[in-house]
Amino acid sequence: MPNWQRLRASLLDAGLDLTEPIRPRAVGGGDINAAWRVETDSGRVFLKTGSADALEMFAAEAEGLETLSGANAVRVPAVLAYGACGADSFLALEWIDFEGHGAASTDRLLGVKLAAQHRVFADAHGWHRDNTIGSTPQINTWTDDWTAFYREHRLRFQLELAKDRGYRGALEALGDELEERLPALIGEHEPEPSLLHGDLWGGNHASAGGEPVIFDPAVYYGDRETDLAMTRLFGGFSHAFYEAYELAWPLREGHERRLGLYQLYHVLNHLNLFGRGYLGRAETLMREAIAAAS
Ligand code: ADP
Repeated sequence: MPNWQRLRASLLDAGLDLTEPIRPRAVGGGDINAAWRVETDSGRVFLKTGSADALEMFAAEAEGLETLSGANAVRVPAVLAYGACGADSFLALEWIDFEGHGAASTDRLLGVKLAAQHRVFADAHGWHRDNTIGSTPQINTWTDDWTAFYREHRLRFQLELAKDRGYRGALEALGDELEERLPALIGEHEPEPSLLHGDLWGGNHASAGGEPVIFDPAVYYGDRETDLAMTRLFGGFSHAFYEAYELAWPLREGHERRLGLYQLYHVLNHLNLFGRGYLGRAETLMREAIAAAS
C-alpha cells in the first residue's frame, strides 16, 4: 500500500485537484504495478503506484505514451504526472472508461490507425532511452542495422538473462545457432524504423466510445512486423483488425517466415519473468526459425 497521505500531497503539487478524502479504488488487470481509480474535482484519474525504484519505469512509460500521442494515430491515455515521494512512485493518467474489446468497426479503425502510427519513422532502430518490457529492462541503443539491433538488444539480451536464470543446454545451443542464421532470415529484409507500441498483446488495447485505445507500451522504433507478431502471440485481435491493417499498409513478402522469430523475443521474456512453462515454446520457435533460415 502506498502512503496515501504523502502521495496525495505529491499529486496536489503536480497540479491534480484531488478530493479529500482521496478514497482510491483498486483496479485489477495489470501484472506489474498496483493500479487505482481516484477522484479529482475535474474527473477521474488512473493512477499506477510502485516502490521508489519503479520511477524510471513510470518515466519511460510516460515518455512512451507522449511519443505515441504525438503520432496522432491510435488514442492513448494522456499523461498527467509522474514522480516519486518517499518509498513510493506514481504515474497518473487520464481515466478512460473502457468497453472491453470493441465492435468490428473499432477493430478496423485500430488496424488503420496502427498502420498510420507505423508510418512515423526514425533514422535508426531504437529509442532515445531504455525502457522495460513487463518488468524486464529493454535496451534501445540507436542502431542502423535492424538485424544487429534485433540480435544484440532483443534476442541476446533475453538469452543472457535466461542463462543467468539457469536455462542452459538446448536453449543456449539453439540461441547460438539462431544468431548465426539471423542474416539469412532477416538480413535482406531491412525494414524502416517504425514507431512501435512494443508490447501489443490483447490486454493492452480496448475500446472507448467506439474508438480504439492502446496503453501500457514499451515504445521503440523498429520493424512494424514485431508489433503484429505480438498481437498474434496470445490472440485478442479480430480478423477485421488484420484486414484493415493489410489494406492500409500491406506487409512485405516473407512476413510469415519472420513471425516466429519476432514472437520469440516475447516468449523468452515470459520465460524469464514467469518461468519454465514457456521453455518448450521458446525452443520450438527457435527450431522453426532455424529451419526457416535454411
Ligand atoms: P500494468 O503496467 O500493471 O500491466 P496496465 O497499464 O496494463 O498495468 O493497466 C492495468 C489495467 O487498468 C488495464 O488492463 C486496464 O483495464 C486498466 N487501465 C489502464 N489504463 C487505464 C486508463 N487510462 N483508464 C482506465 N483504466 C485503465
